[in-house]
Amino acid sequence: MESLWNQKWVIGNWKMNGRLQNNNALMHRFRILPQVDRVCIGLAAPTVYLLQLHNAMQIVLNNRILTCAQDVSRFAGNGAYTGEVSAEMMADIGVDIVLIGHSERSLYFGEKNEIQRQKIENVLNVGLLPLLCVGESLEEREAGKEKEVIAHQLSVLEGLDTKHIAVAYEPVWAIGTGKVATVEQIAEMHQFIYEQILSMHGNDAKIRVLYGGSVNANNATDIFAVPYVDGALVGGASLAYDSFTSIINAAQES
Ligand code: PEP
Repeated sequence: MESLWNQKWVIGNWKMNGRLQNNNALMHRFRILPQVDRVCIGLAAPTVYLLQLHNAMQIVLNNRILTCAQDVSRFAGNGAYTGEVSAEMMADIGVDIVLIGHSERSLYFGEKNEIQRQKIENVLNVGLLPLLCVGESLEEREAGKEKEVIAHQLSVLEGLDTKHIAVAYEPVWAIGTGKVATVEQIAEMHQFIYEQILSMHGNDAKIRVLYGGSVNANNATDIFAVPYVDGALVGGASLAYDSFTSIINAAQES
């Protein structure tokens, strides 16, 4: 797992998409994916399909793709929390990485820093890796507040008992819109995020900062060439084999 921190990460976020049969077909196609030693590949499926995904990764793909969850309960262990799935359960079925605080969680479920912090701690406590998503809205960017907003979102990482920090910078206005931040905007924000993490966790912190927001087969090469970009969190383009593997190949060649 230590080599993860030197690799480019390409994590697909299926959101609320997928069906047993389609997922299986996609997993089988991944068998022909050439070996990529410079890329850590992950797929975040809906919770109900995580076990299917994990089994396929083990049986068909020799664990070449990490199993990622899109969310986790803020409650730990077991208990009377109907509908919830705890970090312990995620660990039990073989999840590796858990997305925390995706902007859609904040938009539709009102999740803010306090809940995200509880989730991150739960995930760390069971030995899994949280991937914190941060990003400003269009309004916030137009008001010149993007760094202030991101600094506040990143403050959930303060004082965590870990030296391994993974963040996805996803400007909300670029998610699912086809609008991609410019390479200058990405470089500026990624450098800022690095500085914030280093100031909280020290120079020996192991850091990955992924870019997310309409990454596709055509723009991935340019995005991976931006300084401080350690990979991509990919929504729409992760649903099709060809576009997702083009992004993986771009990461391998970057
Ligand atoms: C996302 O949901 O994390 C995302 C980046 O979506 P898309 O690539 O579709 O913009």
